Amino acid sequence: MDIPRIFNITESAHRIHNPFTAEKLATLGAVLRLDAGASVLDLGSGSGEMLCTWARDYGITGVGIDMSQLFSKQAKLRAKELGVTGQVKFIHDNAVGYIADKKVDIAACVGATWIGGGIAGTIELLTKSLHTGGTILIGEPYWRQLPPTEDVVKGCCAESISDFVMLPELITYFGDLNYDVVEMVLADQEGWDRYEAAKWLTMRRWLEANPNDDFAKEVRTQLTLEPKRYVTYTREYLGWGVFALIAR
Ligand code: SAH
Repeated sequence: MDIPRIFNITESAHRIHNPFTAEKLATLGAVLRLDAGASVLDLGSGSGEMLCTWARDYGITGVGIDMSQLFSKQAKLRAKELGVTGQVKFIHDNAVGYIADKKVDIAACVGATWIGGGIAGTIELLTKSLHTGGTILIGEPYWRQLPPTEDVVKGCCAESISDFVMLPELITYFGDLNYDVVEMVLADQEGWDRYEAAKWLTMRRWLEANPNDDFAKEVRTQLTLEPKRYVTYTREYLGWGVFALIAR
C-alpha cells in the first residue's frame, strides 16, 4: 500500500508536506495553547513534523496515520532524532475511516481532507475520535483570487473552480457545519515557495541519480514545467491555512 510514486520522489526531502514553514507550524502549536500531555490524532501525518515538534516543544502525545511508506519511515526517524519516541507513534496505513481506540483532545487532518471525502466528511470522521469539546484542525487550500478562466483553474492543479472557495466562504462554511473557528494560521507565499520550490532541487538530484528509471521522463517533464506553472498560477491564486474548530 502506498501513495502514487511521484509524491514519494518529489517530496522525499520535505519535512512538511504543505505550504507551512517550521515557524508557522510552531505558531499553530503555540496559538492552540496546548496542555502538556494533550493527545493529538493526525490523519495523513506525512513525515510527522507536526506531532514530533509539538511533542518536543509543547509536551503533547500523538498518533499519526499515513499511507506513504517513505513518509511514515521518515516520521519514525524524526521522532528518534527529536527524542520523542515515547510520546508519538506513527502507523503506516490508509486513514480512510480510521477511528482512534481512545478519544483524543485534538484531531487533525492537515492537507489531506480527501481522506474523509472533503471537509465535512473529514470533520465527521475526526469527531468520532474526539473528546466532547475537543479541537479539530483542518488544513485546506482556498482561492486568494477567483480564477478568471478555466486555464487558471487547471494551472492550479484543480479540477474545477468549485474544488475550493474564497477565505470568507470557507469560514462561513465551518460556521454552517456548526463549528466555531477558534483560531487559524495562514500560509504565505514564502511558505508556498518552500513547499513547491523544494521539489525542484529534489527532482533535479533524483534525475541525476536515476537517469534510467522508468519515471525519469515524467520527472524531467515536471522539472521543466513546474517552476513556470507554479509562479504563474498556484503562487498567485491559492492560499492555504489551518483552521481550529470547536463544535458549537
Ligand atoms: N499533514 C502532513 C502531510 C500532508 S500531505 C503535513 O502537513 O506535512 C498529504 C499526506 O496524506 C501525504 O503524506 C500522503 O501520504 C497522505 N495520504 C494520502 N492519502 C492517504 C490516505 N488515504 N490515508 C493516509 N494518508 C494518506
